[in-house]
Amino acid sequence: MSGPASTHTAANPPVSHIMGVYNRPTLAFERGEGVRLYSTDGVEYLDCVAGIAVNGLGHAHPKLVKALNDQAAKLWHVSNIYRIPEQEVLAGRLCEETFADVVFFTNSGTEAVELALKAARKYHAARGAPERIDVITFEGAFHGRSYAAVNAGGNDAYLEGFGPRLPGYVNLPFGDMEALKAAVGATTAAIFLEPVQGEGGARAFSDADLRAIRKLCDDTGALLMFDEIQCGMGRTGKLFACEWAGVEPDIMTVAKALGGGFPVGACLATNKAACGMTPGTHGSTYGGNPLAMAVGLAAFDEVSKPETLEHVRQMAGYFGQQLQGLMDRYPDVIAEIRGKGLLIGLKLIPNNRDFMVMARDQQLLIAGGGENCVRLLPALIMTVDEAREVVEKLEATCQAARAATK
Ligand SMILES: *Cc1c(COP(=O)(O)O)cnc(C)c1O
Repeated sequence: MSGPASTHTAANPPVSHIMGVYNRPTLAFERGEGVRLYSTDGVEYLDCVAGIAVNGLGHAHPKLVKALNDQAAKLWHVSNIYRIPEQEVLAGRLCEETFADVVFFTNSGTEAVELALKAARKYHAARGAPERIDVITFEGAFHGRSYAAVNAGGNDAYLEGFGPRLPGYVNLPFGDMEALKAAVGATTAAIFLEPVQGEGGARAFSDADLRAIRKLCDDTGALLMFDEIQCGMGRTGKLFACEWAGVEPDIMTVAKALGGGFPVGACLATNKAACGMTPGTHGSTYGGNPLAMAVGLAAFDEVSKPETLEHVRQMAGYFGQQLQGLMDRYPDVIAEIRGKGLLIGLKLIPNNRDFMVMARDQQLLIAGGGENCVRLLPALIMTVDEAREVVEKLEATCQAARAATK
């Protein structure tokens, strides 16, 4: 039960009523602008998390604020039993710029993944091979938190205690092409991967491996499915990360930066791969609502501009150079730089969680990641001056981390 309503405000919330599935610091924010976040206690932070690659255009981008406000005055929600013209516009843009023929909109990445997994099985069932149910994924993968998504991800920590594992998921060592070739067989429905792993610690598949996996799928009739929820939407300096390898999937999941901070996800597919998804096979109450579509379209127009993507590539070059210098000066702190574009991972020698706290003491926000990494996921619009500030704060953090081990 809560106390008197008047004692609970945004500055004094009843924190204890939140289910304890996150290990949170006490920090809370009340306002954001570009790459800056302002905490409820009045401190300014430099944001290199961007809502875990969600706020691709930074906080309170004027075009997104306007799109949201304009739509809010017109129409928020109608059922998907009617046509939603805004969906057709955004789907058209996504298909224009990618391999896809059709799109289904969701409210989150996990829901897009859920549909991708369903569509893969349904594809084979519709083609007379219902025994093809296995989805092959890779160690370090993260595909979301629904039952299907945690089974696909294969992370023991997310599966423990939730009952028996679902059949039909095969998790292989990262980048082990021999194991992959051996695993693909008569019951394989699809190979599912993040071209650049996010939560796994900013780990990219090589272009050669992605091409070889595409060929393996073509040879065996398995579908190739990419999860570009984190690495897509301009994050690597191309609209989608798979463009670097020149490889097109059959199905792709997108979310996070798609809405620039408004919840929206999408499952993209070729007509062929979506052949089983006929009326009645899937649906969503909120997916693709007019508010999400208005913001999504405004975000897509900004992110897909050639100059935005060029800027990301330039900033990635700047960070790459500066971080290399930092690693040279602090080989006792930074062991490896990885990732692609502005999905940057620093594999650390000291504990990554401790390092994140020390960065926060410098008013710099960074994300964690697998294999003792921290991730830098700045807004795509970060300037060189702001990036220089990030590097200075990281240097101070490295100094603090070094001092802490003495
Ligand atoms: C965040 C993420 C998801 C899950 O998205 P939600 O919106 O949290 O459901 C799935 N896959 C990848 C690669 C992600 O980074």
